[in-house]
Amino acid sequence: MARRSEPQRLLGDLVAIPSVNPHVTPGGGEQAVAAHLAEYLRLSGLAPEVVECAPGRPSVRVTVRADEPRGHLLLCSHLDTVGVESMTIPPFEPRVEGGRLFGRGACDAKGPLAAMTVGLLRGRERGLVWDVTLWAVAGEEVGGEGVLRLLEDDDRFDGAIVGEPTEGHLVVAHKGAVRGEILLSGDSAHSSRPLPDVGALAAACRITLALHGRAPGAQVHPLCGASTLAITAIHAGEAANVIPGAARVRFDYRTVPPQGPSAVWEAVNAEVARLLSGTGIRSESVTLRENDWLDTEPDAPVARAVARALEERGEDPTPGGAVYGSDAERIAGRGIPAVLLGPGSIDDAHTAAESIDLDELERITEVFAWLLTDGKTVARSP
Ligand SMILES: [Zn+2]
Repeated sequence: MARRSEPQRLLGDLVAIPSVNPHVTPGGGEQAVAAHLAEYLRLSGLAPEVVECAPGRPSVRVTVRADEPRGHLLLCSHLDTVGVESMTIPPFEPRVEGGRLFGRGACDAKGPLAAMTVGLLRGRERGLVWDVTLWAVAGEEVGGEGVLRLLEDDDRFDGAIVGEPTEGHLVVAHKGAVRGEILLSGDSAHSSRPLPDVGALAAACRITLALHGRAPGAQVHPLCGASTLAITAIHAGEAANVIPGAARVRFDYRTVPPQGPSAVWEAVNAEVARLLSGTGIRSESVTLRENDWLDTEPDAPVARAVARALEERGEDPTPGGAVYGSDAERIAGRGIPAVLLGPGSIDDAHTAAESIDLDELERITEVFAWLLTDGKTVARSP
């Protein structure tokens, strides 16, 4: 049997402990996995704290000091995962096959978390050049409880690296999101008398066909690409013999820097008004959720430090962008320059057979160790 590397061993243990976000699956939660990670850090000689970020929603944090720090870096990844209903493999029985480890959370984000954690431990042995705080937070997938609570205690970091599956690439920008609902109302009618023009349900379909895949007011960002819009739900009607007087259309608009929510709503509302003109249908807009985008200067010290470590370790140091969101926008929102780095691919995240490449896991663990020590590769003599 092939020897397991330390990040692989830790990752296997983390995947074996269910930590589905309880907003996704009631009864889930991060308690057991937080306790395991805290114990692992304690056995490694560190002094972690388990912080209750919401009732039953613990995050783990630990700080390790350097002798002569050049600044204080935050490493942040998440403990929670998405649900497992649609999975085609046992979600919590980590299995290794073809150089990959399979299981829920393997790449999103227990792989990146294992790489950061073991990278920090190796860095501590070799001699850190940064003070380092590691946060393993609850509630990244939905809610944001962990990172928001820990930022209340401390937001004085010189830079942050958020562990997400970036395939070992430096990500300095990602999209934001505006999720909303358009409430349509008009007259209901007996279905033997179809409305001459359009009813609320037909208007919802008209809006769907016009907007799905065509974001009004779309902009293009050099690293993130273009804004997108997807219609994600229509609710209308019940009885087969009634033309409904109301309908709701839900959408998910992915913004790019520097697009803000008000500009998005302005463009969406203008398009809806145009589509409804002359129909007698009234519309009302409701915001369901907004997430900011990330747009960190590739020249920021944390981005340059990551790029240098990647380059020195033989990886591609080119800064890129991503279409998905992360806790990095919440951290950057507090004025902390934040970037993303981690092993694993977003194409494998949230999938029916989630997995991660174990060679990449080990390589990116060493990138973290390089970054935190400025390239020391040998353990200091005790
Ligand atoms: Zn994630």
